[in-house]
Amino acid sequence: MTILTVLDNASAQPNSVRLPIAGLVPMTTLDYPDHLACVVFLQGCPLRCGYCHNPSMIPPRRGEPQEWQAVLEFLSTRQGLLEAVVFSGGEPTVNAGLPAAAKQAKALGFKVGLHTAGPYPDRLTRLLPHLDWVGLDVKGEAKSLTVYAVVPASGSYMPVAWEFCSTVGSVSSAAPPSTGRILS
Ligand code: SF4
Repeated sequence: MTILTVLDNASAQPNSVRLPIAGLVPMTTLDYPDHLACVVFLQGCPLRCGYCHNPSMIPPRRGEPQEWQAVLEFLSTRQGLLEAVVFSGGEPTVNAGLPAAAKQAKALGFKVGLHTAGPYPDRLTRLLPHLDWVGLDVKGEAKSLTVYAVVPASGSYMPVAWEFCSTVGSVSSAAPPSTGRILS
């Protein structure tokens, strides 16, 4: 199902939460451990990984209110069928509306997961109370992250993000940043 299909089926009722929806996978068994989930892809990423497989999702945009509303209406038709909603990207934490959206998804009875590279530790901290699982995309040793992401000094955030995620006890990754295995 494409996001255009979801938007076509949405009501005109606006939602105050703005998220730039870049895509929707309506059902997956792979993106949230041991749960049947859907994946919501959000537009925008501050990194520039040389191997990026989603370069069209890098440019940021604000998103229209009806975009997240359309996803909410899709979710309301999946209550009791899906167990979780996963926010992915791009880098989902680039979007200020994400905590409110996660809260709304939770209110519908879904667990909430996040795929993130952790570039905004402060935002991640504020988001963690609304999350049930985090997939932290460790891109390499923090000191050499610029090999994978050309944003200056981007390596400094990774150990911080790992520490925050580890405190909730629900982070998944092949290895902490100190050992620096590359996941994607
Ligand atoms: S973090 Fe993901 S979306 Fe962003 S540039 Fe890297 S691979 Fe692409």
